[in-house]
Amino acid sequence: MKSARIIKPKEPLEVQETENSKPNGSEVLIKVQSCGVCHSDIHLWKGGYTGPNGQFMKTTDRGVKYPLTPEHEIAGIVSEMGEDAKQIFKKDEKVMVYPWVGEGLCPACKTGNENLCDHPRSIGVYNDGGYAEYVLVPNYRYLLRIPDEIEVDIAATLSCSALTAYSAVKNAEIRPDNNVVIIGTGGLGLMAIQLAKAVFGARIIAIDIDDDKLKIARNNGADEIVNSKSNNAIQEIKEITDNSGADAVIDFVNNSKTVESDMQFLRRRAKVVLVGLFWWRVETKPDIYAY
Ligand SMILES: [Zn+2]
Ligand SMILES: [Zn+2]
Repeated sequence: MKSARIIKPKEPLEVQETENSKPNGSEVLIKVQSCGVCHSDIHLWKGGYTGPNGQFMKTTDRGVKYPLTPEHEIAGIVSEMGEDAKQIFKKDEKVMVYPWVGEGLCPACKTGNENLCDHPRSIGVYNDGGYAEYVLVPNYRYLLRIPDEIEVDIAATLSCSALTAYSAVKNAEIRPDNNVVIIGTGGLGLMAIQLAKAVFGARIIAIDIDDDKLKIARNNGADEIVNSKSNNAIQEIKEITDNSGADAVIDFVNNSKTVESDMQFLRRRAKVVLVGLFWWRVETKPDIYAY
């Protein structure tokens, strides 16, 4: 089969001919039909990312090995199955892949949080991923059938961006009467707006620095939009919430600046959920406490 692989960081991906894996036991071979492009693929391709103090955090220091076929947002059809998987799936079934595979033995895996595994084996990060004609999934339990009404292209991205947003929304412990501020209306923010609305019915206040993106946020279910470039953004949020502040803030930008302002419109007992790879520092003491 053909795979587009990162041979060495920062060099163009190379299309290589690699052996098709034969699935055994619970393994399933998926014929890839659609893949996302995630920001973490860029980090994989660059060989790392810049940390909080400007130092470069290398992916190889965290167990990534090159050459690697990247991409973890994968959807396609079942091609071949190991004996055990044949009882669960049929050939040609439309499926999406849960890529956050753990080794199954650490405390996180044992409590069902494989995505936080101490020794991750994520597909497309530590093992070959979706930029290939086929991908080997280590167990049928990492597959989810795609309902007919959902397109494969949409389903592919759900296992990363939608899942991250869903987890953030769930951790915010939103109630229907809550004012929920969502910072950042990129892919994750838009997912969170739709989920917070559909699952919890909360009132959503979307914040961004780009009016065009805010318009899209409104079309995706945001009840109120605020451009944080405006001088009185914090005041606007206070007014929208009748001066009570936000019951929850989900911050998808998560840098020192946004986190500092998050602290200024929190209601007592409010939850703050910070999403992202990067660390933050609050330099001023917030006058309202989250808990
Ligand atoms: Zn991703
Ligand atoms: Zn584990």
